Amino acid sequence: AKRWACAGAVLRDLEERCAAPAGRLRQVADAMAAAMRAGLASDDYEIGNGSALKMLLTYVDSLPSGDEKGLFYALDLGGTNFRVLRIQLGGKERRIIKQQSEGVSIPQALMSRGSNELFDFIASALAKFVNSEDEDFHLPEGMQRQLGFTFSFPVKQTSVASGTLIKWTKGFAIDEMVGKDVVAELNKAIKRQGLDMKITMLINDTVGTLSAGRYVDHDVTAAVILGTGTNAAYIEHVSAIPKWHGPLPKSGDMVINMEWGNFKSSHLPLTEFDVALDAESLNPGEQIYEKLISGMYMGEIVRRVLLKMADDAALFADNVPKNLEIPRILSTLHMLMMHQDATPDLNIVGVKLKEILGIESTCYKTRKMVVDVCEVVASRAARLAAAGVYGILKKLGRDIASPNEQKTVIAVDGGVYKYYTFFAQCMESTLKDLLGEGVASSVVIKLVEDGSGTGAALLAASYSQCL
Ligand code: ADP
Repeated sequence: AKRWACAGAVLRDLEERCAAPAGRLRQVADAMAAAMRAGLASDDYEIGNGSALKMLLTYVDSLPSGDEKGLFYALDLGGTNFRVLRIQLGGKERRIIKQQSEGVSIPQALMSRGSNELFDFIASALAKFVNSEDEDFHLPEGMQRQLGFTFSFPVKQTSVASGTLIKWTKGFAIDEMVGKDVVAELNKAIKRQGLDMKITMLINDTVGTLSAGRYVDHDVTAAVILGTGTNAAYIEHVSAIPKWHGPLPKSGDMVINMEWGNFKSSHLPLTEFDVALDAESLNPGEQIYEKLISGMYMGEIVRRVLLKMADDAALFADNVPKNLEIPRILSTLHMLMMHQDATPDLNIVGVKLKEILGIESTCYKTRKMVVDVCEVVASRAARLAAAGVYGILKKLGRDIASPNEQKTVIAVDGGVYKYYTFFAQCMESTLKDLLGEGVASSVVIKLVEDGSGTGAALLAASYSQCL
């Protein structure tokens, strides 16, 4: 009995500290909008409540319309895999006629050798892909193949088709690449393969998702990725970007890559578990918002809470399970499978606790406690993600009813949104609550799958028709 009282106390304390009621979410959204304004004003501005967002200029000032025609390619590099893709576009009526893609995994060794080695490997896969083309794909006589490059690492963009690498993340460590133009390097490697192809767009995955979303729905205004990490991009009026000193684009708009994972604010509900996770992470003090809401961290937060329950309340019998002490052993995928266990005895929770944490037998009460912990961590994450979207809507003035009944669509992609049904539903209902009845019906969250690569090809197509 003492055990339950004690574990229950840990749970209630967690609930209290993770609480994100509407009032607090409104403060978070206001802080997000303020951090957006600060980041748009200049590149080195700090505001009182945490720092400004990077709000990177993408140079993308027009998005696909659906009229695009022809054969275009994309290369999507954002982790240990890359994808090559081709797409035959048939214009307004026929839309996407045919599309093919192939995934290739990058040998570990190439991630830290030289840039030529990495890009030669990628370019040779690309050449192979192009050479395997069937007759459904055709390039007009005399036309060069055009490629959109999705490169999801921090880049300082210098035009739609150039940008220098700020730093590697996700396990890559090719020092000589830092500060170099990634497009120039890849173009050279493509030449070395004897391939007649040119990179005409350089984007990241959020801009790809925005573009792919826009291709199917003209009301798409922002895109959010909720996967291993999290980020967002949206369409901003150039007049609201003081740090933009270039010419005014015809559309009057520019896509901004927010790098919102780096958002922080005193209004974020942080617990002792979050503070410890951050301190022991590879990037302490950075990506605080990401550490609350993304797939790389949610399961790890749950592990830390369960470890406390094991330590303080002997939740899993007298000995603390050894595996529970291993950082990152519990992934967000495991977490969602336990959380969404619909069996009456919570059998899946029991199996997972055994398989992953080596906990032999658990009673219903223990399993239910684990589910409750997952629910608290996922609810906080989903509600904070909704607050982030609400912050973007506020910044754009789309949080209030518009006289012309303008619709706003948010394109979302990523494993957490796609597979964690509870998360997706909680995020949606929270956003509706925040917007209130009058406005909620005009804002839609829409799943846009695989936009990361497709979006780059669609953008390459749309820019090629502009020329
Ligand atoms: P990335 O952001 O690296 O492109 P994803 O969008 O596929 O990757 O998201 C991966 C994240 O989603 C992981 O943190 C994983 O724990 C979580 N996830 C949830 N459900 C699944 C699933 N069914 N398959 C893969 N990942 C999943």
